[in-house]
Amino acid sequence: MEATALTQPTSLIDPFGRSVDYLRLSVTDRCNLRCTYCMAEEMTFLPKQQILSLEELRDAATAFVELGIRKIRLTGGEPLIRRDILKLVSSLSALPGLDELTMTTNGLLLPTMAQPLKDAGISRLNISVDSLKAERFKQLTRVGDLSQVLEGIHAANAVGFGKIKLNAVILAGFNDDEVIDLARFAVDNGMDISFIEEMPLGEISSHKRVNTQITSAQIHEQLAAQFTMVDSAETTGGPSRYMRVANSDSKVGFISPMSNNFCESCNRVRMTAEGRLLLCLGNQDSLDLREILRSHPGDAELLKHKIVQAIGNKPERHHFDPEQVDIVRFMNMTGG
Ligand code: SAM
Ligand code: SF4
Repeated sequence: MEATALTQPTSLIDPFGRSVDYLRLSVTDRCNLRCTYCMAEEMTFLPKQQILSLEELRDAATAFVELGIRKIRLTGGEPLIRRDILKLVSSLSALPGLDELTMTTNGLLLPTMAQPLKDAGISRLNISVDSLKAERFKQLTRVGDLSQVLEGIHAANAVGFGKIKLNAVILAGFNDDEVIDLARFAVDNGMDISFIEEMPLGEISSHKRVNTQITSAQIHEQLAAQFTMVDSAETTGGPSRYMRVANSDSKVGFISPMSNNFCESCNRVRMTAEGRLLLCLGNQDSLDLREILRSHPGDAELLKHKIVQAIGNKPERHHFDPEQVDIVRFMNMTGG
């Protein structure tokens, strides 16, 4: 696609003065796991024609980058099961103006894909692992083999990505007894780790979300009893805060969408695999970019104009209530 002259502002500023420079791009709603907190056991996935093609994803990403997006994280569903993911990575990593292309993955396919991903231009990875106990991991993911994920983590480490970050969703009464072990695993392997509060996205049958809530403050309390935790000013924007583990290279992130609202510094938007621009994880507001991409193919200016308009509707903050599940949107649809 040819670069076109910008007629819109070069940066995306929302009505609350927040500069949006970070896009999470979901490339598929499908997954090779079925994590209980993320999906129902039986899921209906989107028909292929509703998913953006490689070219549409690239055109949308190009428009965002021309408007001032500096970092893109590829996610899903599981991004590594998308056919042609390496082609997409290669074309996005070449976009002028994009500072960083990263990915969040469950790690299962990394043993074979870590090196090609790095070669194609992914600079850093977040790898999700919620338990280091094989049986529990299988229960939580319904089908997963922990040894494959661990192999994937080690493969990614060996390839020499920037600092790897592990993601762990903590569920009270299920894996909250592994907070220390997960943190130690990260420290021992020179990685960072973020602990995530479970969000009520999608109706699930495995557990009542209200019973599994645990706050970042409770997780921090556990960690502080074992490690010396040092405040850190580092931030990536959005609902997370970081601390350092003393005498280590590791940072611990606390992602607290439920207990603590850091929306005032939110710098991100999301695009779903079907091309819906979500302005906030906890709100329904969205813009159908697929419709624009398909009805006006190649019209980059129109696309950018619509994106700028949509940023003007970015909500000030989200309002999650674990008792009130958003029944429509599962996290695999939303793009984590
Ligand atoms: N499949 C990839 C993975 O698991 O890393 C990428 C997509 S996944 C939706 C992205 C992140 O969202 C994962 O770290 C996952 O644990 C997290 N996640 C999924 N459902 C969630 C929920 N209901 N609340 C909080 N985090 C959730
Ligand atoms: Fe798949 Fe990631 Fe959701 Fe687990 S959290 S089911 S790995 S998309």
